[in-house]
Amino acid sequence: MQPLKVYKFGGASVRSAEGIENLRRIVGREKDRLFIVVSAMGKTTNALEEVLDRWMRGDREAAQNRFAEVERYHDEIVRSLFDNPSPLLSRLRALYDEVRTLLGSLTEDDYDRRYDRLVSYGELLSTTVVSEYLSLRGLPNRWIDMRRCLVTDDRYREAEVDTARSAALLREAVEHAPESLFVGQGFIGATPEGNPTTLGREGSDYSAALVGAMLGAESVSIWKDVDGILNADPRLFDDTVLIPRMSYLDAIELAYSGAQIIHPKTIKPLQNAGIPLHVRPFGDSSKPGSVICAEAHGPLGVPVRILKQNQILVSVRPRDFSFVLEQRLPDIFAVFARYRQKINLIQSSAVNLSLCIDDSRHLQTVVDTLQADFRVVYNKNMELLTVRGYDAESYRRYVEQVPGVYLVQKTRRAVRIVRRKAEP
Ligand code: ASP
Ligand code: MG
Repeated sequence: MQPLKVYKFGGASVRSAEGIENLRRIVGREKDRLFIVVSAMGKTTNALEEVLDRWMRGDREAAQNRFAEVERYHDEIVRSLFDNPSPLLSRLRALYDEVRTLLGSLTEDDYDRRYDRLVSYGELLSTTVVSEYLSLRGLPNRWIDMRRCLVTDDRYREAEVDTARSAALLREAVEHAPESLFVGQGFIGATPEGNPTTLGREGSDYSAALVGAMLGAESVSIWKDVDGILNADPRLFDDTVLIPRMSYLDAIELAYSGAQIIHPKTIKPLQNAGIPLHVRPFGDSSKPGSVICAEAHGPLGVPVRILKQNQILVSVRPRDFSFVLEQRLPDIFAVFARYRQKINLIQSSAVNLSLCIDDSRHLQTVVDTLQADFRVVYNKNMELLTVRGYDAESYRRYVEQVPGVYLVQKTRRAVRIVRRKAEP
């Protein structure tokens, strides 16, 4: 098979007609076969979440109105991209009608399942527009329905992909196609019965990685509105610098710590297949960006700071004073797992387990469930700061000189600090 690359364009890249035109320029320069993975436009996923939320709360009119805004937003982009927008507008209209019918017929009890059926329309709309626009501008392509290619389990909103089955389907969809350009949705898949699923918020990076691994791509590129991977989020820290090369190991640790640059699940499939991941600036494709690959060894060069906000520090102690690690760990973890509560850090002593977790709507239920056997206390409004590749100066600055530090965990490579959220 001819070589193939995968490009991923996020919501911010396709949020406007100018963005889609820029995507067209980037795609048009590529000589190899190319599979592009596209997210919903702009904040469409959030908007669809709001539609569902209002609908479920019984405010149907508010839900309809919110959805009408989603329609107008897409229609406007189509009108500025196409001289003759009518044919595409009527195709979009058909999708809007499906959504409205869907809303009216949401009868299943399961919120998450309804969520996936509805929210997946964001990506269906965006890829329909992008695919049509590329064709119009002389880039024939094949629109791929990822609900038919990514087979998942039925853990709605956080579905697991069956990679063996999916790889066979995806290859079949791509291999004998006359086109050398493919447009597929990020974020979505479906159960074997065909019920749409999603892979977790911001999951399009992960979709791109899976597509890359399944099709044996030579590289995967994520186009973003930053110059590449920086050593901190510039919205939260000043003095940031670009990291040109990074190992898979550093990247997976940083993504897991909360670096928003790539979805945490993205690295594994690429590392397993030895495929490099490029993070490239959407606004200036002449800049090299950053690359994550096997060949990047050694120190990071600069300390990388990752701040995870909205954390809760929970402390769990068996009421009967049994040893927490030896005797009670499975019981405790089972409760967190039942409510899909992500644990970001753990620390233990004889009879105490401290866990740093994301704040979530399940917190109280988790605490109540544990209360039967454990004494549970927690602190809200915490943050988790990870400094990977720390040096003496950054250690002083983030561990020793700041007030409100509740917990510190240190290895040779990284220090992790749970601290009270700084007052604004
Ligand atoms: N559209 C989805 C979201 O906003 C997936 C993605 O953007 O990666 O979460
Ligand atoms: Mg996004």
